[in-house]
Amino acid sequence: MDFSIPAEMNEEGKRLQSFLAGHLLPSVGLWHAQGVIPRSFFLELGRDGWLGFQSSQQGLVERSSLWQALLFRSLGKISPGVAVAVAVHVSLGMKGLFLYGSDAQKEKLLPSAVRGETLLCLGNTEPTAGSDVAQIAARAEKIRGGWILNGIKSYVTNGTLSDWALVTAVSDPAAERNRRLSMFLVDLTSDGVSRRRLNKQVWIPSDLTRLQLKDVHVPDENLLGKRGRGLSQVLDIFTQSRLSISALTLGTAQGAFELAMDHGRKRKVFGQSLADLQAKSFEMAELFTRMEAAALVLWKACWKKDGGMEYRMETSMAKYLCTEAARQTGSWAADLFGAASVILDHPIHKYPMDAWASSLGEGTQDVQKLIIFREIMAKKKPLFGG
Ligand SMILES: Cc1cc2nc3c(=O)[nH]c(=O)nc-3n(C[C@H](O)[C@H](O)[C@H](O)COP(=O)(O)OP(=O)(O)OC[C@H]3O[C@@H](n4cnc5c(N)ncnc54)[C@H](O)[C@@H]3O)c2cc1C
Repeated sequence: MDFSIPAEMNEEGKRLQSFLAGHLLPSVGLWHAQGVIPRSFFLELGRDGWLGFQSSQQGLVERSSLWQALLFRSLGKISPGVAVAVAVHVSLGMKGLFLYGSDAQKEKLLPSAVRGETLLCLGNTEPTAGSDVAQIAARAEKIRGGWILNGIKSYVTNGTLSDWALVTAVSDPAAERNRRLSMFLVDLTSDGVSRRRLNKQVWIPSDLTRLQLKDVHVPDENLLGKRGRGLSQVLDIFTQSRLSISALTLGTAQGAFELAMDHGRKRKVFGQSLADLQAKSFEMAELFTRMEAAALVLWKACWKKDGGMEYRMETSMAKYLCTEAARQTGSWAADLFGAASVILDHPIHKYPMDAWASSLGEGTQDVQKLIIFREIMAKKKPLFGG
């Protein structure tokens, strides 16, 4: 067994830190205050090759899961809100297009998406369908040459920022559960699309948007993947993108921990530094251990995916453990700052809130447990190897 990060990725890591020092750190405070991520940041990410894909002789190819996880962890340490906006574009939008798009769809959108010029999001959740994705009610009615879409997508990250959305809708209402939904590429400037940015307290400065589709015409060529296979497609996209959200959530935990450690060393109480109080040092040891355990499961999930192995269980375990670690570490770190932690623009304030968001986006903690349990039940004995 080798637990080390490959040397070439460490090199990439240094390049990433220098990119973030130049392009994210100087501006992130302003973006948080304004609640907006400028599109120019995506152009800069694209120009420097950080949008998850790269050109090769075979065309655009996806970066390895480990590479992407290291990227999202680094973004998440600085700003989970910025990290989620990039992850939605790359791991829901581009990934969905890459996995299920036709050659023509990919040619049309992927190159400009990888340059950060065209931005993508995914609208699945509805007022009556969250964890239970099969309850989607948005309708796609077939007409000559295309489809008419009607419905509401209630929580869409990047819904305001994006140009295109991948959308699920019922195309075949009479079909069995697994054949009722299809996915569509919706141009968000189409007639009948309206967007309302929601007021939220997590993952600032990304936007969370309610998307309404009223008689939106979608041409046949914008059906994404196969008609009637939308449920399995969107669940597959979520399984894969769970690695990215786990990574940015690990970054949330680590970012909070690093800030708190720094404060704990400097802050003097009762004649000694906070970090030297044994009660606090035990908490630090415990949280560090939890983060390390979460990271190892995440690296294992990436390793299995990159090696072509089945990784569904590991990706849900990683999401579960990273979220638990971020929730515990985020609240603990905020406590260590005392009253300062409640001030909106204090750097520690965002971490507990953003850890909470991680427990919802791309499957709640209960949903991860459901997936893990199903995978345990499907396993052949012995469960723990020989
Ligand atoms: C900040 C943020 C960003 C988001 N971005 C997007 C996005 O870009 N695109 C998108 O489509 N959606 C997005 N979502 C929606 C998110 O995916 C859903 O909130 C999530 O899937 C849960 O759905 P729900 O909110 O309808 O809760 P529900 O499904 O109603 O769940 C409510 C509670 O019931 C529990 N529960 C549900 N089923 C079970 C079960 N079988 N067993 C035990 N407990 C259960 C849940 O764990 C939860 O605690 C976002 C949400 C947030 C908060």
